[in-house]
Amino acid sequence: MVASSLADSLAAVEERIATALAASGRRRDEITLIAVTKVFPASAILEGYEAGLRDFGENYVQEFEAKYPDVASLPDARFHLIGHLQSNKARRAAELFHSVQTVDTPKLARRLNDQGRPLDVMIEVRLSEEESKSGALPDELPALVEAVRACDRLRLTGLMTMPPWSEDAESARPYFARLRELAARYSLQGLSMGMSNDFDVAIEEGATHIRVGTALFGSRRR
Ligand SMILES: *Cc1c(COP(=O)(O)O)cnc(C)c1O
Repeated sequence: MVASSLADSLAAVEERIATALAASGRRRDEITLIAVTKVFPASAILEGYEAGLRDFGENYVQEFEAKYPDVASLPDARFHLIGHLQSNKARRAAELFHSVQTVDTPKLARRLNDQGRPLDVMIEVRLSEEESKSGALPDELPALVEAVRACDRLRLTGLMTMPPWSEDAESARPYFARLRELAARYSLQGLSMGMSNDFDVAIEEGATHIRVGTALFGSRRR
């Protein structure tokens, strides 16, 4: 089988988005498609941009730092950090990214705030028992939301989560619904949830940002 072009993959993703939007009575402009380019070279971002994508997600500060010179001047491109961030990398992250979706401690929020430029942030929430997952626990949210809101250069736009991986997209639905409930509790509009295998379900549950890698760029395993 010949690998499909990015334009074809993007069309297929947009078709899935349209179907999920129709099923839930929502509009396309309520959803930001974040193209996840981790592991792929800078050329993937350039191709994505060429195909019309404007929002890109990266997991590692150092990896993106290496690609940055090639993509820094793309007009209107926005880069989102979607991987766990250690506070000792906060300075660099705040310089490179337009948004950080993985704030999970007050300390990290303060480090990002100290960088001196305005930054959109989301709080990553851990909704499953899996030890390996990062993110703040729901119990920690009251204090964390308050700490982030006290940071004058950070704009808290929403919550982000990553449910346990499963073949079955439906198994993610309760996690997405829970994130929506938590966001409403704190009057937050943004919901970053849904990846290649389950973004349809996430859209039905109110996602505003979907993070899609494999469905656009193919498998990351070489
Ligand atoms: C890798 C990654 C994605 C994209 O996953 P796909 O299954 O390839 O779409 C989305 N969100 C996060 C946090 C990721 O690390």
